[in-house]
Amino acid sequence: MSESRIDIRGVSKLYGPVRAVNNVDLVIEGGSYCCMIGPSGCGKTTLLRMIAGHEAPSAGTILIGGEDVTHARTGSRGTALMFQNYALFPHLSLTDNVAFSLRVKGVATAERRMRAREMLDRVQLGHLAERLPSELSGGQQQRVALARALITNPKVLLLDEPLSALDEFLRLRMRVELKRLQNELGITFIHVTHTQPEAIALADQVVVMDHGLIEQAASPREIYNHPHSPYVARFMGGQNVLSGKVESVAGTGAVVVAPGGMAWDLPEAPGVQPGQEVRFSVRRDRIRVVPDEPARNGVSGRVINTEYQGTFVKLALETGSGEEFIITMGDEAWFARPIRVGETVHAAWEPGMSHFLQGSNNSVGTPLED
Ligand code: ADP
Ligand code: MG
Repeated sequence: MSESRIDIRGVSKLYGPVRAVNNVDLVIEGGSYCCMIGPSGCGKTTLLRMIAGHEAPSAGTILIGGEDVTHARTGSRGTALMFQNYALFPHLSLTDNVAFSLRVKGVATAERRMRAREMLDRVQLGHLAERLPSELSGGQQQRVALARALITNPKVLLLDEPLSALDEFLRLRMRVELKRLQNELGITFIHVTHTQPEAIALADQVVVMDHGLIEQAASPREIYNHPHSPYVARFMGGQNVLSGKVESVAGTGAVVVAPGGMAWDLPEAPGVQPGQEVRFSVRRDRIRVVPDEPARNGVSGRVINTEYQGTFVKLALETGSGEEFIITMGDEAWFARPIRVGETVHAAWEPGMSHFLQGSNNSVGTPLED
């Protein structure tokens, strides 16, 4: 058992009637990069704080490296939490800020300053070691906060929206640095974010949360290509969610009809029954515009918006389903024959591109209160 593997078993946290975290089971492999993502208020910070020991679960067990730490003291469980607001001491140099926790532990001055300098070198701030926090940029302050969390040699580093205070340019740079650090140190990182591209770019495992529940925990590729539910497909983006009624079943596949009469093939929809309402997703970049009315596996609609995005163009169609249908197409194809707002277009996809969504849509509405 890796000493930095985390097992979360049946963990809940109640604040009065509010179930901030609702009976969560999750395994985070030792030495992996885990990103937790979900809308504001879904319980990300609460779960992180319980792993760090800043909050005690109302029920359930948390193990780190196979050891039950559910009620262990914050400083004794091998975790370090980097705070969102950095919380640096303004009157102390970077070295003394980073060395602070060693001072509290009684490590001698020379040794703790040396270790702090090493850690500042790791985050590429060694040359600024004697400056005060006020003499740094936001991105640099953040790296000091990182060094301060890492000096305790944690098995697990917990980061709560670490990049949200930075501008776009710094955010992308810090993202690369976080990944590099995690690779070098080989410890477990748990990073809370509400930005989808950040989770996709960094994580070995993405944990999608909603209303105190885990909707799906899987690799970024799995989450993106095989979302478990309509909620995950919509929240992670890049997908269209369609619904219809099962007309017939053959093997593990099914034929679904839309309210408008269009037929769609679902190659893998095990267990569905004729007459059942089902949902499936189709990636926006797997759809092509076709000249004639599509006979099967397609939609028709009026273009309500077009957006040029550099390498591709995004078309939004109104198809009568109540939800915009989005197509992304290569910029060259679009400029060769631009499609204007107000035109009616027909779109189609290969039947294998339809991905059946198992989780019911109702899971989005899981009540927050008991
Ligand atoms: P997130 O980090 O995903 O935005 P939080 O974990 O901060 O979500 O909050 C989850 C839910 O728990 C929210 O409804 C929030 O209002 C509630 N909550 C969080 N902390 C407390 C607290 N100390 N007291 C009462 N309610 C809280
Ligand atoms: Mg939060």
